[in-house]
Amino acid sequence: MTTTVIGAGVLGLCTALELAAAGHPVELLEAERPFAGASGRTFAWVNANHKQPRAYFALNAAGIAAHHRLQDRWGRYGRWFHPTGGILVDTGPSSAATYAARRAEAQEFGYPCREIDGAELAALEPAVDWPAAVTGGLFFETEGYVDAALLRDGLLAALRDHGVEPQIAAVESWSTVSGSVELRMRDGGVRSAERAVLAAGAAARTIAERSGAAVRIADLRERSARTHSFLGITAPVDVELRHVIVSDRMNVRPQFDGRLLVQVPSVEHRAAEESTEEQLADVRAEMDGVLAEFFGDRVTLERVILSGRNLPDDELTIAGFLDPDERVYALVTHSGITLAPHLGAVAAAEVTGSPDAALDPFRPSRFDRADAPVTGEREEFIGRQ
Ligand SMILES: Cc1cc2nc3c(=O)[nH]c(=O)nc-3n(C[C@H](O)[C@H](O)[C@H](O)COP(=O)(O)OP(=O)(O)OC[C@H]3O[C@@H](n4cnc5c(N)ncnc54)[C@H](O)[C@@H]3O)c2cc1C
Repeated sequence: MTTTVIGAGVLGLCTALELAAAGHPVELLEAERPFAGASGRTFAWVNANHKQPRAYFALNAAGIAAHHRLQDRWGRYGRWFHPTGGILVDTGPSSAATYAARRAEAQEFGYPCREIDGAELAALEPAVDWPAAVTGGLFFETEGYVDAALLRDGLLAALRDHGVEPQIAAVESWSTVSGSVELRMRDGGVRSAERAVLAAGAAARTIAERSGAAVRIADLRERSARTHSFLGITAPVDVELRHVIVSDRMNVRPQFDGRLLVQVPSVEHRAAEESTEEQLADVRAEMDGVLAEFFGDRVTLERVILSGRNLPDDELTIAGFLDPDERVYALVTHSGITLAPHLGAVAAAEVTGSPDAALDPFRPSRFDRADAPVTGEREEFIGRQ
């Protein structure tokens, strides 16, 4: 039975690869190009840090483990996963309380975390000019990051090994008819599929609406600091950064081409504004200022992009069938870089008849219940993505 995967972001590629590698026929439809959505504009920190509730933590921890397996299995196509460990630093006056709370949370969930002093911090990251107020931090040894472009190329090469190439074709809507799925395409055509995985990121919302179904995720046409974030990309730098660093001032990590990726919490509220050249220049200047606190004048931004999150209304994963006949399966999540190797494997198993109870808290139907989760304010916390 052929499965049609809609969307060639990280979730669609991982799901298609798992299906193909298990010997199931797969077709992959992509509106624009692989990683055209959030997967191509992501910070890509692989972590289960401060992920609540426990079931969502467990999913992210499984994601970290699955990255090792994916990298080991397809390593001939590149090295994209860097399990370097992650450093968390609070530069503010309440750092002791921050570290105590985050350590306690990690301990409760069995997430490896240890306190480091200033000397160890300097040894771990000698290239950073740590502000004088920073006397230590936390180290999360299982964390790391992914070079998203290299992951994309590795997944595409592995898919090619199984005879699967993404087809450039945009799906408008679907209907389920007598044991199959009819896909109406943007070019006016119609395709028939035996079943479909909707991994179209933020577009899953409108595709589902047009099909008489609901995928409860943010509408990215409305901008806010909850749904959007500024991502800074530096020029290639002569700074040897070794880990992902998250802090109240800045998140920063290395990239394979000598650039650094940067997020700065103090500019995030501006994501709600209308985006203009002037605003981006202001944001960039502020981000450059924060970078200078940690790197002096060795690092400057090359560009800043505004990036939308594929954000389910309760900020947890959505994974499961949308129809009673179990023909159309929705797979949308934030933290999708961390989660994709695991979710892709589980989704592939579920659509081919092996349900996984660990995904029960994440079914799309949870939003239809009387006690349905509601859209909340996003909590501010160090390392927020
Ligand atoms: C600023 C930012 C920082 C982030 N940082 C992290 C992080 O540090 N760690 C982490 O784990 N996650 C992070 N994320 C989240 C992560 O990047 C996303 O959850 C993940 O990339 C989502 O992948 P996806 O495959 O679901 O969606 P997408 O990457 O959005 O892919 C969807 C694909 O579907 C295609 N498509 C759209 N419409 C159609 C259609 N009609 N027909 C066919 N195809 C269609 C699109 O072109 C696109 O290629 C971050 C996200 C953002 C925005």
